[in-house]
Amino acid sequence: MNESQIMQLKQYIEEAHITTFYGGAGVSTESGIPDYRSREGTYTKMEAANQDPKKIMNRRYIKNNPIEFFNRPEPERGKVEPNSAHKMLAALEKSGHDIRVITQNVDGLHQKAGHRWVLELHGSGRTWYCMDCERVYLPHELQRDKDNVPRCYVDNGIVRPGVVFFGENVQPENLTKTKETIQKSDLLIIAGTSLTVFPANQLIYEFKGRRVVMINKEKLPIQQLNVDLYIEAPVGETFAALNAHYNFNL
Ligand SMILES: [Zn+2]
Repeated sequence: MNESQIMQLKQYIEEAHITTFYGGAGVSTESGIPDYRSREGTYTKMEAANQDPKKIMNRRYIKNNPIEFFNRPEPERGKVEPNSAHKMLAALEKSGHDIRVITQNVDGLHQKAGHRWVLELHGSGRTWYCMDCERVYLPHELQRDKDNVPRCYVDNGIVRPGVVFFGENVQPENLTKTKETIQKSDLLIIAGTSLTVFPANQLIYEFKGRRVVMINKEKLPIQQLNVDLYIEAPVGETFAALNAHYNFNL
């Protein structure tokens, strides 16, 4: 990352009418949330422990093995807070820029930073629902049985996180809204995603606008789209550098 790239990013944002920020796991790693597939990633570690993420992070597994699912060891995690990327995007929005966040993450950090336009493509861990009747519960309201399995008040169904797991589809209304938003944006910022998961890796091709920025550890080959600016740097660090030109109080 160099200064001329940051100046370029600023110019693009200032000239855009609608910016879509299309983010993946790499947006939250600087907040202390591991990504999935890198060396320290959640799935890499599960596989190292002989657990198949595709089998475990799966509706059928929760139904058939709720005790195992809700008692599986969770990695130790410090306090998770929004980083400079979440905060800077929210500050830009608050200052009147139309910045629309479409995220593959389920951590709610954009909202926590105060962002008002956020679409969570893969659902959210902030709301849970009953697998039988779809009643919605907040994490702090969960009632667990003696085996630590969260249960529905009404039908005793298993209550699970509202996250899109393996083998499940993105909510159709989220797909539609994502497409419409990308189609009417004139700046698309793709950040911290390896674009390996369907349909997240296809939706970017809805873009018809003017400029594409990629902020990522590696430059991804995206056919059909010309990347105008590629910044090889951590996403939070990039937005911290951008803030040197705005001086928001993050
Ligand atoms: Zn229920």
